[in-house]
Amino acid sequence: MPTVFLKTYGCQMNERDSEQVARDLVARGYALTQDEKCADVILLNTCSVRDLAEQKALGKMGMLGRLREAKPELVFGFLGCMAQSRGAELTRDIGHVDLVVGTQKFHRVADYVEQIWQRKVALRERLMDDARFTIVDVEEEAGSQETIREHVLTERQATAFVSIMQGCNMHCTFCIVPSTRGAERSRRIDEIVREVETLVARGVREVTLLGQIVNLYGRHEFAKQEGKSPFVQLIEAVHGVEGLRRLRFTSPHPIGFREDLIECFGRLPKLMPHVHFPLQSGSDRILKAMHRGYTAEKYFGLTEKLRAARPGIAITTDIIVGFPGETEADFAATRDLVERVAFDNAFVFKYSPRRDTPAATMSEQVAEPVKEERNHGLLAVVNRLAKAKGDALVGQRLEVLCEGPSKTNPSRLSGRSPGNKIVIFEGDARHVGEIFDVRIERSSGFSLYGTPVLF
Ligand code: SAM
Repeated sequence: MPTVFLKTYGCQMNERDSEQVARDLVARGYALTQDEKCADVILLNTCSVRDLAEQKALGKMGMLGRLREAKPELVFGFLGCMAQSRGAELTRDIGHVDLVVGTQKFHRVADYVEQIWQRKVALRERLMDDARFTIVDVEEEAGSQETIREHVLTERQATAFVSIMQGCNMHCTFCIVPSTRGAERSRRIDEIVREVETLVARGVREVTLLGQIVNLYGRHEFAKQEGKSPFVQLIEAVHGVEGLRRLRFTSPHPIGFREDLIECFGRLPKLMPHVHFPLQSGSDRILKAMHRGYTAEKYFGLTEKLRAARPGIAITTDIIVGFPGETEADFAATRDLVERVAFDNAFVFKYSPRRDTPAATMSEQVAEPVKEERNHGLLAVVNRLAKAKGDALVGQRLEVLCEGPSKTNPSRLSGRSPGNKIVIFEGDARHVGEIFDVRIERSSGFSLYGTPVLF
């Protein structure tokens, strides 16, 4: 059977979509390969959030085109966000691309690959003549949020992502996601619970619920009940799945992060003490221009409430530097807020103009060297804070879910603490998929290092 090389760019939602595509191809008898040179089908699942991500995927596809010289029947496809925003332009501009599939059509990928592959085989056997055949499908599809629900699990896989919704209605002025992912639409609670139950029955201990604005889950489809938002109702239902040990979600928006959700952190023990909570800027003027809908003080207040509900909760964030019009004073306000909140960690991004977004055409675009300098300056603050958080854990026993070999040194094992910090330790196969205590001996700022206790 043909083999497939599938590479994913971008966020966890993209990883999750790729997993569904991989599962569909495997179900049809395709084999997955990590080696692009051995593949019969090469698929790149793309990201559009920043230009760099698009350029990486375009560059990779350009390079891979050479493989067709040795294997004319190779199938090449772009999937996901960049496929959605660029559509047929990709088959026009890159002569070897056969397939372009958008974000609402992942469930069609296996069919399309099969059609193209069969044609190429017929060509090779001279059963048909050499006309270029491409498929581009970037249509919207009602109900597509229901189609990302099956998993390919590796042996002893302990963690899994579960997509609970698709799309975003927030329209932040910097963000391309509403146009690549469409409007918000959510799956049903009982369907999601069934998926989690199946995962747990297969050995998964921890699930992370995924959505572009995850805390706004279900707001168009389901009613509040007893003052609880649909998202809180979902969290409670998933929390009730027997055998599930840990529950996380990502990423929420400060809008709609209300008392009912904050209070969950105080009463639901499986809900892990970590929130990835995108801030974007610490300047009210910039937050307004970004169309974020909150002030710096409001954001700070939410972090205080979270810490009151669950002392020690880890808070991480996303920040954009160099948004159009950002002055030194605006940047200083961001830096000050980062210090005040004392984040456990943060992703810092240089603003990247995206097609058809309001910020891309705003006057006062910030020069690249200024963005670079602010990025560098803020990362220094973030790294110092992260190191201090890590150092404070040295000497403590942390409960760790062991995920498998460490990515940087496969002779050691890696897991996550409740606060989502990476913990590296010596161990063997029996540790994988288990939850146990690790005594922390050292911190690099990025990872913690320790020894398992009594195991
Ligand atoms: N939905 C989440 C939210 O906005 O709260 C985050 C989703 S986005 C995939 C991840 C992060 O990428 C954002 O939080 C933002 O910091 C960053 N990002 C989005 N658009 C960007 C742009 N045009 N330039 C730089 N960074 C961007």
